[in-house]
Amino acid sequence: MRQNIVAGNWKMNLSFDEADNLIEELVEKLEENELAPNTRMIVCPPFPYLELCSDASVDSYFAVGAQNVNENDNGAYTGEVSATMLHSMELDYCIVGHSERRAYYGETDALIAKKVDQLQKYDITPIFCCGEVLEEREANRQFEVVKRQITDGLFHLDKEHITNIIIAYEPVWAIGTGKTATPDQAQEMHAFIRGLLAEKYGKEVADEISILYGGSCKPSNAKELFANPDVDGGLIGGASLKSEDFFQIAMSF
Ligand code: PEP
Repeated sequence: MRQNIVAGNWKMNLSFDEADNLIEELVEKLEENELAPNTRMIVCPPFPYLELCSDASVDSYFAVGAQNVNENDNGAYTGEVSATMLHSMELDYCIVGHSERRAYYGETDALIAKKVDQLQKYDITPIFCCGEVLEEREANRQFEVVKRQITDGLFHLDKEHITNIIIAYEPVWAIGTGKTATPDQAQEMHAFIRGLLAEKYGKEVADEISILYGGSCKPSNAKELFANPDVDGGLIGGASLKSEDFFQIAMSF
């Protein structure tokens, strides 16, 4: 059975002390309240706070992931972080292909495919982001765009490796804008993505893969979004920076 997942992407936010407070508050809430069965919380802080968060996660209340990875093993790549490093810290997850990396750092589908392989080589589950920009949605090209991102970023994987992927559909027009996709828009795209996976790998495999929604998800809309049959949770930006909001979203299953 596929997992329900709520992953928090802190992006480039918070001082060390603020990060420390946020993670402590989260641990307190998780000590006092259990998440629904089959529900996993993942926290993706900036690189310098990974150790702080993994230390706080020792009792397995949540898992920790990175926000990016370099496509090479190791070497002269100043400022970059490798999958071998993340693996040596026993991290289980890493976001790849976030729209901000595609837009500001020119990440292509081909590069993202290499990062996916690199993570899987070191047993780290990629949280693979896809989604259309506003102009593409307005031109009704969202399905074509997402199909290309999924095909070029993931479809070189075999059956065994595709099941070690989490997909996050994040319509770019909904990220950090306060505009959320309607539950119907989210379900429509998630069902489309699951259909692509089923065509390529078979229904049984497609049914095992968690597909998260991202884009201004908050406590007030999480329940309605997650109630859809193909929405298996959320990738949360802004609302993951407030422990109560993030926790309430995780309690929305
Ligand atoms: C994100 O960037 O992954 C995201 C979903 O951000 P927000 O929740 O702030 O829209």
